[in-house]
This record gives sequence, C-alpha cells and structure tokens, in this order.
Amino acid sequence: MSNSTYIAPTDHAKAADKFMEDEERVNWHDKALWFIREKRDVASKQLPEWELLRETASQIKQNVLANLDTYLEQFEQNAKRNGITVHWAADAAEHNRIVLDIINKHGIKKLVKSKSMLTEECHLNDYLADNGIDVVDTDLGERVVQLAQEPPSHIVLPCIHKRKEEVGELFHKHLGTEKGASDPAYLTEAARQHLREKFLTSDLAITGVNFAIAETGGFVVCTNEGNADMGAHLGKVHIACMGIEKIIPKAENLSVFLRLLARSATGQPITTYSSHFHRPRPDQEMHIVLVDNGRSIQLGRKDFYNSLKCIRCGACINTCPVYRRSGGHSYHYAISGPIGAILAPNMDMKKNADLPFASTLCGSCSNVCPVKIDIHNQLYQWRQVLAKEGHVPTAKAQSMKVMANVMSNPTLFRVAGKSGRFMMRLAPGLANIKAVNPWAKQRDMPEAPKESFRDWYIKNKKKS
Ligand code: SF4
Repeated sequence: MSNSTYIAPTDHAKAADKFMEDEERVNWHDKALWFIREKRDVASKQLPEWELLRETASQIKQNVLANLDTYLEQFEQNAKRNGITVHWAADAAEHNRIVLDIINKHGIKKLVKSKSMLTEECHLNDYLADNGIDVVDTDLGERVVQLAQEPPSHIVLPCIHKRKEEVGELFHKHLGTEKGASDPAYLTEAARQHLREKFLTSDLAITGVNFAIAETGGFVVCTNEGNADMGAHLGKVHIACMGIEKIIPKAENLSVFLRLLARSATGQPITTYSSHFHRPRPDQEMHIVLVDNGRSIQLGRKDFYNSLKCIRCGACINTCPVYRRSGGHSYHYAISGPIGAILAPNMDMKKNADLPFASTLCGSCSNVCPVKIDIHNQLYQWRQVLAKEGHVPTAKAQSMKVMANVMSNPTLFRVAGKSGRFMMRLAPGLANIKAVNPWAKQRDMPEAPKESFRDWYIKNKKKS
C-alpha cells in the first residue's frame, strides 16, 4: 500500500508465530469467528432444503464453468444493449489501466469505492494513489483497514483482527473523535458522518459485483451498509469490477445464491442490501470491467477448476482452525484462509507454495462451503503439485521422504516408536524445548506411554 507501514509477510508459519505472540488477541479472534460459524450453523439448519440448495448452487456453477465463454458473451451483449460499457481485462495491470482511463477521461481526482475483493487482488487502491487519485473505501471495516494502511484480513470482515480500542485510536487520529473513545455506536456514527461527506462530494463510484446475470446483462451487489448503492446513486460515473467467474445464467438462479450467501457469511437470512443494477441513469455513465487475472488458467486445472465456483462468503475461513488462530494477514494474499490457499498458488506457485500447507486438512471448510467446493482435497492436491514442481523446501521434502519410509515399513516404525518413547522418558524436558520441537510451542508434550498400542493389543489379545 502506498506510504504504508504495513509489510506483507512472505511465510505463513512465521507470520502466524508473530500473530500468536498476542495470546489475548488470538483467543478473541478465534472466538469471534467461531461465533459467526455457529450463527451460520443455526441459519442453515432453519432451512430443511439447505443441502438441496447447496447442490443446486454447485450444479449451476458447474454449468457456468463448462460454458463460461458463452455466458460471458451473452452477458456482454445484453449489458451493452442496456447502455453499459463493457471492458475486458486479461490481468490486474490491464484492469487498473482501464479504471484509471475512465477516471482520467472525466478529470476526476477523488472517488468512493465499496468493498470488492477483486480490486484488492489487483491492488487498485495503490495504483490509483500512485496516479494521484484519492480513493475512499466506504465499507466501515474496509475504511478502518485503509486508515491503518493495511489490507483486509478477511474477505467479509476486513478488520476482524482489530480491537475496538485500536479502531478508536485510528478514528481519533484521522476523524477527530474523542481520545480514548471506543464505544462502537459512537465510532460508527463518526464514520457515518465522515463517509457521508465523501459520498456527497464524489462524482465516481467503484463497486464490486456479487453476481452478473447473462440473460439480463444486469448485476447484483450485496452489502450490509448500503454503501455501494449510496456511491453508485450519487456518482455521475459507476464502474463495477468483476472476476469472470461471477456470471450466472438466469435471474431465477439468484434466489439460490442469495439465500446461501448471507446465511453462510454471517448467519443472516438475507444481506441487508441486494442491489440490482441494470442500466445507467439518463445522466450517468456505467462501466463494467470483466477481469480474467489467472482465472482461465485455473479453469484449465482439472483438480482445481471448481474453486472458481466460490461466491466469497467466507464460511470456510470462519470455520478454519488454522485461520482462526493465525489471522488473515499471515496468508500474504488478497484472499486469506482455505479458499485463498487454493487460489494463490495458481497466481504464483513459488511465492505462495507455503499456503496449502497452512491447513490441518480436517475438511471443515468443505463441509460448510455453500457451493460444495472440495476445498481440503484441493489443498492436499496442491501439496502434491508443489512438491513435484520443486516448490517445497528441501528440509521438508527430505524429512517427508524419511517419514514415508518409516511409516511404510512396520519394523522401522516399531523401532522408531520404541526409541522415541525411550528418549521421552530419559529426557522428558527435551521434547518441550521449543527450538527443538516447534509442535511444543503452543502445547505441552504428553508423557510417553510405557508401551505402544501394538504391544498392548498383542498382550491383551493373547489374554482373551
Ligand atoms: S470456498 Fe466456499 S465457503 Fe469458502 S468463501 Fe468460497 S463459497 Fe464460501
């Protein structure tokens, strides 16, 4: 980020270590996300047809991915017919250039933007700032991280890693609120006043897109704060930026996705504002930028293409035990958590090779995913690909080889177990030295059992 003090981490394990230094923060971060996970569970159980909805959504997206070119062209034709200008961007750089050209054409120097993970992925804010454009993020959580000069740590809850006292300090510094004030209602009101002025004085609004409908050429943006509507309705120019996978065939498909999205994201029955945009007002210009940025490559990966079904609800993130205790910034990619760990290596295998390993492979992510992406299988698959492509550190690759030999040879396995138990009894403190055994950093090693399960089983089997 421009002029930012934030330094993006490059290694998940090291960044997670740093996050875990503040134990109190880790604990409430964990609890806050689990609370949302539980709300999601309650909301989903209230719909007897929940599993049918998930299956239907997954199949609709399957059809979209199999016919992506057709639906995109249909969308383009209908959007143009509605008076929307359609642009195509092969990558982040082209997306950013297109957006800047539109802004410059109108001589605009400041604009409002509602939450869009695509623009985060393209680093649009930095690019525009470097070109002299003042961008104000209008989603409350997004504005908080923007003032802190940090990227969002969660795709739905961008500042979930911040205490209300930290938000209070930021607002005191930037918005002039009372020193030491941290009451959420007071801070929200201050943000509301601050943002209202920005809305009223901006001629251009950028929004994301949750769903674009091929048969109508319209698109839907979901927010809980109404900030996308406010920006788009007040601005003379509206630019909507979307990844090409956001397309759905028909308007009637929307009901399936809107019911799943809000329940999966926050446990709400419906997002507060599901705003439908079809054409510009008579005095307005409306643009939509369709962005590829690696999606075509992912579409061609047979083990990973269905990650493009993602509707960015964040449920896999909220449920992930690794994310909850390591924080979103440790993923060093715009999209954090399990889904980010699948999407990131597609963009840059070498840089993001650590991310598929930031998982216990417990499968909780796949269980909650509203579009039934087999997330944990894909994380496992990525590990194989990365190892084959030589992107796994040598020490890890070698130790895995040794481990594989030991575990596939019963005699070796028995000897290793026996030696391990002997060493743990001889020097019990050794296994708890954190430099020797990273596993013990957050846990105490249990006492070594006197015998292995195998020995116990043989002994007892004989007795019986
Ligand atoms: S992968 Fe599934 S659960 Fe995760 S954000 Fe995407 S849609 Fe939601």
